[in-house]
Amino acid sequence: MPNQTTDVLIAGGGVMGCAIAYYLLKSNETIKISIIEKDSTYTRASTTLSEGNIRIQFNIKENIEMSLYGLQVLANFGQEMATEEYVPDIAFRQQGNLFIIDEASQETAKQGLELQKSLGCQIEWLEPEQVKTIYPPYNLLDCVGATFGSTDGSMSPLDVLLGYRRKAIALGATVIEAEVSHLLKDRGHISGVALTSGEILRADVVVNTAGPWASKLAQTVGVELPIEAIKRQVYAVETPLHFEQILPMLLLPSGQYCFHEAGGHFNTGASLPDDPVTYDDFSWSRARFEARLWAGLVKYLPDFDRLKVTQGWAGLYAVNTLDGNAILGEWPELKGLFLANGFSGHGFQQCHAVGRYLAELILDQPPTLDLSIFSPQRILDNKPVFENPGRII
Ligand SMILES: Cc1cc2nc3c(=O)[nH]c(=O)nc-3n(C[C@H](O)[C@H](O)[C@H](O)COP(=O)(O)OP(=O)(O)OC[C@H]3O[C@@H](n4cnc5c(N)ncnc54)[C@H](O)[C@@H]3O)c2cc1C
Repeated sequence: MPNQTTDVLIAGGGVMGCAIAYYLLKSNETIKISIIEKDSTYTRASTTLSEGNIRIQFNIKENIEMSLYGLQVLANFGQEMATEEYVPDIAFRQQGNLFIIDEASQETAKQGLELQKSLGCQIEWLEPEQVKTIYPPYNLLDCVGATFGSTDGSMSPLDVLLGYRRKAIALGATVIEAEVSHLLKDRGHISGVALTSGEILRADVVVNTAGPWASKLAQTVGVELPIEAIKRQVYAVETPLHFEQILPMLLLPSGQYCFHEAGGHFNTGASLPDDPVTYDDFSWSRARFEARLWAGLVKYLPDFDRLKVTQGWAGLYAVNTLDGNAILGEWPELKGLFLANGFSGHGFQQCHAVGRYLAELILDQPPTLDLSIFSPQRILDNKPVFENPGRII
């Protein structure tokens, strides 16, 4: 590592930035790391606005492996992230994820299922009648079966983020409350960042973990990333139903999901093709649910014809417009600039594997899990690696 005041600057202190800091310090406690975060209340960070779900149900081997490693970390998260003052409680509950499969998605789902099985995942195929048992409100419409991942589950994303952040600080990381205005480079090498206050921070390694704002930051040194910040909306609804047991997270063939909170309370949402690109619009619309989502939901869940939207929120997906997958590694044309970007709606669950992988790349160590399939080189080569787009949530 270079002999400077700071070895690594991390631009963006969401779950990715903090996880990378933790893994760097876990490997080498002498590294000097500054995490620069413009809003430590995390009001607009994708992490805190996410559903906090993890699933092994992917069709790309590396995405599955990242989740498997994530599950391993989560099983022991409180202990691993414990500091003298704080033991995180992430409220992890493995209620399972149930993907309803229709005719059109059957082949891809079965391919994914075989791959997941071959990697040792707990995944099963359910016949339509079994779906009814596990998810009583579902009316079997369009259903040729379902895949059920019993280890899939949800947790408090804020507590995972704070777990990594507090542990990284306990190990020696500094958090600077400031906004990076632009990145700095010097003769083909990254050289630091400039803050909006005018202050300059120097380092030979800068990690872009600015979430939905990542492409804007990269542009300041002429790096064009295929990432757009797209607004997604979530609705909390109260139904007349009542379930003592938490139901699995339901993913409908339409792409809409339904996440059981407790009793008759559910969260629901769906990505729509006309969801806008924005960096600062966090408004949510009840009318959008009523006009665009409600009928689709009732079609599959007839009991949802009477419900109350109790609240809602909007968050930003950092959508990788090339292929919907993460962009991980050093930018080939600018030494020292590392990227952990473009997670497109499934990044929260990948923070553990990404944290470890980026730390290994920065420290020039052989990666425990080879994630080079997600290398930024593929952007320059225009070689996308597609998951099944219908399953990106
Ligand atoms: C509605 C919704 C639901 C989701 N559900 C899931 C889910 O169930 N499972 C899943 O795996 N993923 C989910 N995601 C995606 C997931 O939230 C993200 O992929 C993940 O949280 C990305 O983490 P991050 O650290 O890269 O970004 P963020 O959490 O957005 O963190 C980036 C940080 O950088 C800071 N920052 C930005 N620019 C600057 C700057 N110039 N200077 C200083 N600081 C800066 C920001 O303030 C922010 O705190 C969901 C996302 C949304 C919006």
